[in-house]
Amino acid sequence: MSSPAALREGYEHFDPRAYLRNNYLPPRADFSSEEFVVPWKLRCLAETFASGEIRGRTLIDVGSGPTIYQLLSACDHFEEIVATDYLAVNREELGRWARGEPGAFDWSPFIQHVCKIEGRGEPWQDKERRLRQRLRRILPIDVHRPEPLGAPLLPRADALLSAFCLEAVSPDRAAFVRALAHVGNLLRPGGHAVLLGALGESFYLAGPARLPVVPLEESDVREALAAAGFALRELRSYAMPPALRTGVDDVDGVFFAHAQKPLEG
Ligand code: SAM
Repeated sequence: MSSPAALREGYEHFDPRAYLRNNYLPPRADFSSEEFVVPWKLRCLAETFASGEIRGRTLIDVGSGPTIYQLLSACDHFEEIVATDYLAVNREELGRWARGEPGAFDWSPFIQHVCKIEGRGEPWQDKERRLRQRLRRILPIDVHRPEPLGAPLLPRADALLSAFCLEAVSPDRAAFVRALAHVGNLLRPGGHAVLLGALGESFYLAGPARLPVVPLEESDVREALAAAGFALRELRSYAMPPALRTGVDDVDGVFFAHAQKPLEG
């Protein structure tokens, strides 16, 4: 088990470029088969947002890190996407991509793949442009605070997305539940939460940083969502194949959850 102080200290050494290399280049980002983890994640997101049920004015992505893949299917259904991260280095990396600056990470294979699986024949450059237009704010966040964005963002968000954040910043399961409840405060009653995360992981690497992760089972995710006041709509999981166990973490698999905050009253 880690301590909150050890976690904060670990994140001081987080290298966004190393993290991107470890997780968002081959072999994990191999688009030739849905047996690879990145296409599996993109398929879950594409199918869930394709229903059209999750939509509105604002979507907040919690702990975006240096990545935008998680927003590609979501961005069609919201007027504004708010990305967030605890670390300035990650917010700067995202800003470089949003402004189309040279040296930004190349997300074009991801955008092309998402356009392909969404099957609407949309040119990928149109989706890229739409996400850049809608990604208007990249804000600091700390999910350990009851008000994670500092001041409340009003009106509250219509949907929340969070990928590989809460278990990677929580020292134990109780802290994971509290973090879920804190981010739930950002969501309007009736709003949707879409989560991706690691199963059975105890650490991951990002350059010189070795970050502790609270190892979760599918049942922990189920229980945590209920304890934080969410109604579970769907839970899927993926087993990490041996070829993708590259040593950059000790992850066993990935969960995908769609949950909803009940209407008040
Ligand atoms: N969402 C990205 C993805 O899908 O790959 C990045 C996930 S990365 C494993 C975890 C992220 O949580 C990092 O970007 C880190 O900076 C962020 N983080 C660290 N401490 C945090 C905190 N207290 N509150 C919110 N985010 C935090």
